[in-house]
Amino acid sequence: MRQYQNSEIVDAVIIGTGAGGAPLMAKLAKAGLKVVALEAGNYWNPPADFATDETEQNKLFWTHERLSAGNDPLAFGKNNSGIGVGGSTLHYTAYTPRPIPDDFYINTDFGVGHNWPFSYQDLETYYDELEVNLGISGPTPYPWGPDRNVSYPLPPLALNAAAQLMERGCKPLNIRTSPAANAALSSAYYQEHIGWRQACTNRGFCQAGCSTGAKASMDVTLIPVAIYFGAEVRPTSFVTELLKDNFGKIEAVVYKRNGQLEKQLCKNVFLCAGAIETPRLLLINRLANSSGQVGKNFMAHTGLQVWGEFDQKIDPWKGIPGGLISEDMHRAPDADFAGGYLIQSIGVMPVTYASQLARATGIFGEELRERMRHYNHVAGINMHGECLPYDHNFLELATELDEMGLPKPRIHFSNGENEQKMAAHAKKNMEAIWENAGAKHVWSINRNAHTIGTCRMGNDPEQNVVNSYGQSFDIPNLYIADNSIFPSSLSANPTLTIIAVSYRIADAFIRNN
Ligand SMILES: Cc1cc2nc3c(=O)[nH]c(=O)nc-3n(C[C@H](O)[C@H](O)[C@H](O)COP(=O)(O)OP(=O)(O)OC[C@H]3O[C@@H](n4cnc5c(N)ncnc54)[C@H](O)[C@@H]3O)c2cc1C
Ligand code: SF4
Repeated sequence: MRQYQNSEIVDAVIIGTGAGGAPLMAKLAKAGLKVVALEAGNYWNPPADFATDETEQNKLFWTHERLSAGNDPLAFGKNNSGIGVGGSTLHYTAYTPRPIPDDFYINTDFGVGHNWPFSYQDLETYYDELEVNLGISGPTPYPWGPDRNVSYPLPPLALNAAAQLMERGCKPLNIRTSPAANAALSSAYYQEHIGWRQACTNRGFCQAGCSTGAKASMDVTLIPVAIYFGAEVRPTSFVTELLKDNFGKIEAVVYKRNGQLEKQLCKNVFLCAGAIETPRLLLINRLANSSGQVGKNFMAHTGLQVWGEFDQKIDPWKGIPGGLISEDMHRAPDADFAGGYLIQSIGVMPVTYASQLARATGIFGEELRERMRHYNHVAGINMHGECLPYDHNFLELATELDEMGLPKPRIHFSNGENEQKMAAHAKKNMEAIWENAGAKHVWSINRNAHTIGTCRMGNDPEQNVVNSYGQSFDIPNLYIADNSIFPSSLSANPTLTIIAVSYRIADAFIRNN
């Protein structure tokens, strides 16, 4: 890997190497720019470092303390953010549906939330490109959304037991289903500058880190491409400060590595640290906040899960966790809420299942042990729904300091009436599906997933932190490219869109510089 000196003024410093940072690295490096990516976490070697053991993977979670407030305080750690070269994609489940075009216009359609400053059509060629770059397995044609320009590069993965049961339960209810699109390879796949990646072996540990490289986390896809074209990835480098020159531009990034502070000089900075750390860094450094919107507009997808026990053996740890999908509720005709949701079959590891069961039902001791004896017979369905932005949901700095000596972030979150109605609608549907599939002991857990918003993009500098190309309205050489800039949450899982937006930001930057 090429290495740059801290004293060399590189074209771009990218902070964070997840779904937002890695695509930028690849595009900017390919365009011949000098790129250094600073990443707080380690650079893992999946076959050696990722054991087939759920608890072994705790090292992939961002565990610096975050404070949670509000009526529905969010769980962090394994629930919604990762650390390491590859970011949260190291432990994402790899569900990759595209949004549907009207997702981008929630305000036009329902009079709530915020529209995006561009449309699905503006991202379409980027979706086409990145699905090939990641090796997405999925069905063509796909029942929902516009016809595709190009087929998915690989056919869908096999349906595991939970997916087959969901399919069985949906049929009598006339709910359409389809094998889902997944960022995991249904057969071996050759990629330029990467080589052969092997097919998914169905070991089901996607959320715990894929040791075979079949899952398209950024460390095995776009980051090797970036390195091939001359980018440097600097792991265990925790950014604490962005320094301005006399003209108000960022001239250097300060980071801590091996206990020492270092300073990388640069012409441009791309903040891709995710929807909690990106606004936290801006607030700590008092940057880019003339709109007063840094930390505001926080959203977390509505993610209720319904679980059931079946007579047959399921082995919920086996196979791609998210095999089957239905988007029939994207705009449900009987909806009493704005926006919509999709439903997905899900897998689960035993420790996660036990802790969710205890939290949701309050059982413990012998009763919990008895239910866990049936672990190999459980299957779940998950909803993934639009979350609206509210004034009461935001991130602020607390007075308490973390282990780096920086103010901890405090995240306020309460579901609104819209999210409660949507979750109730989904619960009724998912319970009916499990009843039709023959489930016993059905129980559910209310959750919210993903961190979205906090540095909104838009056209009006008074209402937004960055423009539609991720550029700060206040500091011309500061860009943001991660899930913090989403104006609305979309009802589809976010990663595909984070990458597409990052590609769009990179292309615009290359064009203009
Ligand atoms: C368990 C789980 C399952 C998921 N499943 C899916 C799914 O199936 N489909 C889907 O679409 N999405 C899924 N997601 C969400 C998806 O992983 C994230 O939305 C996406 O990775 C966010 O991209 P990002 O670039 O904004 O942030 P991240 O990918 O989190 O990257 C941010 C990076 O910045 C680094 N960083 C932060 N602060 C600093 C700092 N100060 N200095 C240096 N580096 C820093 C972090 O270490 C991290 O590597 C899942 C997430 C989780 C946690
Ligand atoms: S199920 Fe497939 S993609 Fe997921 S961890 Fe296992 S091999 Fe990797």
